[in-house]
Amino acid sequence: MQKREELYRGKAKTVYTTDDSNKLILHFRNDTSAFDGEKIEQLERKGEVNNKFNHFIMTKLEDAGIATQVESLVSDTESLVKKLDMIPVECVVRNVAAGSLVRRLGVEEGKELTPPLFEFFLKNDALHDPMVNDYHIISFGWATADQIEKMKALTFEVNSVLKRLFDDAGMILVDYKLEFGLDDAGNIVLGDEFTPDGCRLWDKATRKKMDKDRFRQGLGSVVETYIEVAERLGLKL
Ligand code: ADP
Ligand code: UDP
Repeated sequence: MQKREELYRGKAKTVYTTDDSNKLILHFRNDTSAFDGEKIEQLERKGEVNNKFNHFIMTKLEDAGIATQVESLVSDTESLVKKLDMIPVECVVRNVAAGSLVRRLGVEEGKELTPPLFEFFLKNDALHDPMVNDYHIISFGWATADQIEKMKALTFEVNSVLKRLFDDAGMILVDYKLEFGLDDAGNIVLGDEFTPDGCRLWDKATRKKMDKDRFRQGLGSVVETYIEVAERLGLKL
């Protein structure tokens, strides 16, 4: 597979076209950003760790029958994926209260959410990714009602697979963000990434934060902790 030109450079990944018009290469860089790109640092090995972590998780989801972008790992920091027409919203599921939910509603961090919550955010850094609902998405034409139902159902399917996977490895899946896109046949497919950059994971026994909150809150040992998460899942890095 030949890499062609750079299509898009985001905050953490660069997207390249390839000689197959239906496939892209995602390059996971060491750049780590928080607060809509206000805080940016290079963290040694993060690109490699996230690339391999994402491939591992997407393969688990694919094995569980969820359609994902996954094709193959092409280098330590690059993956070949299906090219998707991305829907510009983030799908967030929360099993435990944390982050913006706590700030917005003044609820206690750590409160178990039964049933889990689902929220949509518009992908727009300049507007700080505002929360939107189904009506905004349909009215502005970002997705149809049917596509919305599919994204919700798939995001909850991911929750059943991953909650269990992390629980078995001694971690709580607090919340996470997914992005979906349409493949060339118009099917909704999971794209982007699932890594500790886009979810919250707490150690079950000590509640130690094992995700990007270590970076956001300046807790240190960011990549070391991502590696610990991977190793607990049985992924050798
Ligand atoms: P951001 O755009 O938020 O700064 P990244 O640095 O992660 O984020 O950039 C990756 C970009 O690639 C995102 O805009 C994402 O929506 C897009 N993307 C991820 N997976 C795919 C895919 N399979 N096909 C097309 N675009 C994708
Ligand atoms: N998230 C993300 N990208 C975003 C916004 C959120 O990956 O642009 C993830 C975040 O890491 C967390 C979940 O989505 O796991 C919920 O994030 P929240 O709304 O609490 O926002 P935060 O306080 O993390 O900015």
